[in-house]
Amino acid sequence: MFDLIVKGGTLPDGTVADIGIKGDRIAEVGRIEAEAGTVIDATGDLVSPPFVDPHFHMDAVLSYGLPRVNASGTLLEGISLWGELRAQASVDEMVARALRYCDWAVSMGLLAIRTHVDTTPDHLRGVEAMLQVQRTVAPYLDLQLVAFPQDGLYRSPTGRQNLLRALDMGVGVVGGIPHFERTMEEGADSLRDLARIAAERGLMWDVHCDETDDPMSRHVETMAREVTRHGLGARAAGSHLTSMHSMDNYYVSKLIPLIAESGMTAIPNPLINITLQGRHDSYPKRRGLTRVRELQAAGVTVGWGQDCVLDPWYSLGTADMLDVAFMGLHVAQMTHPEEMARCFRMVTQDNARIMGLHDYGLMPGSLASLVVLDAGTPVEALRLRPDRLAVVSKGQIVAQKQRNDTRLALPGRPEQVRRRHDGTRA
Ligand SMILES: [Zn+2]
Repeated sequence: MFDLIVKGGTLPDGTVADIGIKGDRIAEVGRIEAEAGTVIDATGDLVSPPFVDPHFHMDAVLSYGLPRVNASGTLLEGISLWGELRAQASVDEMVARALRYCDWAVSMGLLAIRTHVDTTPDHLRGVEAMLQVQRTVAPYLDLQLVAFPQDGLYRSPTGRQNLLRALDMGVGVVGGIPHFERTMEEGADSLRDLARIAAERGLMWDVHCDETDDPMSRHVETMAREVTRHGLGARAAGSHLTSMHSMDNYYVSKLIPLIAESGMTAIPNPLINITLQGRHDSYPKRRGLTRVRELQAAGVTVGWGQDCVLDPWYSLGTADMLDVAFMGLHVAQMTHPEEMARCFRMVTQDNARIMGLHDYGLMPGSLASLVVLDAGTPVEALRLRPDRLAVVSKGQIVAQKQRNDTRLALPGRPEQVRRRHDGTRA
């Protein structure tokens, strides 16, 4: 007897299986004849472990247009708009926006998010708000918080002190922004300092690193060195790494092996990188996405992050990690069937590895968290970015949606149309 059985779904590797759930754990995967309190019929549908977003800014989410829109579309105008907004925003306001966004995330099967929290202002209201949100959503959504010195660890007079205060308050990941410090040297110093803080406190480390078109922004080199020195390995992630797009190929041929040697992971954010980078170019205009395929070929775990939804840096966004992967596969030209399937894994299991999630996946003993999609395969899910028919978090059904086919009124044509093309459903 199970509490919940998800029947007949197709797993991302193509296996057709029932999933039997007891309490908050997956008890069995295979052909299940037993009874259950509740059954979800997933025949012909894709059943995946939940989506994971390893890079987000939840303190700014859903603030688009406050105090006004970003007219230049640049990273720097976004940072300055955010500076005005964070001076005014109350804890309650930030909590309300974040919880609203978490509802969207759950509806899309996005059940784990790492969010950077700006630790620049002395009032630390963003930290207070996000810790409150983390506690509220904990029963159904894993929220990791990164202490992020948005205005620089050293460039902001109280930057270092406030980052440490945030960690003392319970923020669990150390951040960084070396390319925003005053000089290359201070950027490199900040990385040495932050790596030591992460190592001494036994925390993970995730740095906004080289989010610039400047090919000479080479902080990832220092970061990889510090990751190796302190043995942080996959507990460290380099976010963005956009300068690598513009770097000299010879230099990159030395750099990528150093990144791989360190064991650190990489998080490009394609929706944002394609939007913010290249703004100073005429033509040709650079894409500003880091070298995803080359990093993967060297054995580096690379995930796709969402970064922003409706905030000073990005005017769109849906909480759908398939939108993120869809943009990523286009910009990185990952169009081979195996590469597309990899893009799906990037927003599920690779992102889970980056966040260090335990008990993730569709195996007996794993946490019973999954999503049923109106698609037959991972590649079809990327093509359609379809409805999430059911979302289960830790054994509980937390979201459901009716299948909703379009009715046609065309002479001699079928009455209904669904754009699936995987052979399992018309
Ligand atoms: Zn970011």
